[in-house]
Amino acid sequence: MKEKLDAMLVAANEAMAAAVDEAALQDIRVSYLGKKGQLTSIMKGMGGLSAEERPIVGAVANRVKDQVFETFEARLKKLKAELMTSRLEHEKIDVTLPGRRNDSGTKHPVTLVTEELIDIFSALGFCVAEGPEVEQDFYNFEALNIPKDHPARDMQDTFYINDEVVLRTHTSPVQIRSMLKQPPPLRIIAPGTVYRRDSDITHSPMFHQIEGFMVDENITFGDLKGVLTTFIHECFGKKVGVRFRPSFFPFTEPSAEVDIQCVICGGKGCRVCGNSGWLEILGSGMIDPEVFKSVEYDSDCYSGFAFGMGLERIAMLKYGVNDLRLFFENDVRFLRQF
Ligand SMILES: [Zn+2]
Repeated sequence: MKEKLDAMLVAANEAMAAAVDEAALQDIRVSYLGKKGQLTSIMKGMGGLSAEERPIVGAVANRVKDQVFETFEARLKKLKAELMTSRLEHEKIDVTLPGRRNDSGTKHPVTLVTEELIDIFSALGFCVAEGPEVEQDFYNFEALNIPKDHPARDMQDTFYINDEVVLRTHTSPVQIRSMLKQPPPLRIIAPGTVYRRDSDITHSPMFHQIEGFMVDENITFGDLKGVLTTFIHECFGKKVGVRFRPSFFPFTEPSAEVDIQCVICGGKGCRVCGNSGWLEILGSGMIDPEVFKSVEYDSDCYSGFAFGMGLERIAMLKYGVNDLRLFFENDVRFLRQF
């Protein structure tokens, strides 16, 4: 039995020295020292020994057991140290490497233009109002003097939700909503998203407009010209020429389209302005008494003007962008330039 025990000690030491990780080492320990391990099975032979032999073999067994355990502990310590060393090697941080840069976003050019216009009109005493994008036919058309059979409905390719609900085709319904909410005087601008069934190089099914209007006693076409000229000079520079051209809108009378001198060629004529030297930027006019009727304003006491413009159009002219679609592709290489 003594020989068996010594042989077991040698075998256990060799096996443990070869263990590659803690789990393997534990398995080896259990296979020698565990309840069903080799030591236990050798010790089962104790019964066949004489009374003199038993304490001697018992002492040898205890010594072997202690030695196997010592080997186990030493090997375990070494394996843990090796593991730590390799982890430290692996997770080493090079503090001299440059830090990761946070990529910060930029404002979209349409947002920039919207903010600039709000600033300009705020300085002129206008407040910002908003309205729903899914709008009732009444606010989008009816109250703006565009009844169901009106040919002007053909001018705007409308997305209909049903007969009475549309995606708003312009920001003008905010005019009606604001006027129904409060009596004059009013000075309001309403920027927002609008929708039309149109898509090509100069049209997008979703785009942005800003609507503005002013209602009070004795508001004249002179006020309209003054406010819009001031706005254009603030937005495009004091030297830019401004031109008011007669036009037609169902909700204003008289109506005028407003042109600015071409910002690309300075009025000499180029491809962008079709050699005319002028660029149309907005529509405007004196609010039609029919519109006042639908919001129960007394058109004998009050008058007002309204205007509306496409924000992408303003952004294209301000930043020299020649394709409307660039605003909606959201290519960061484009957006970073502003
Ligand atoms: Zn031009």
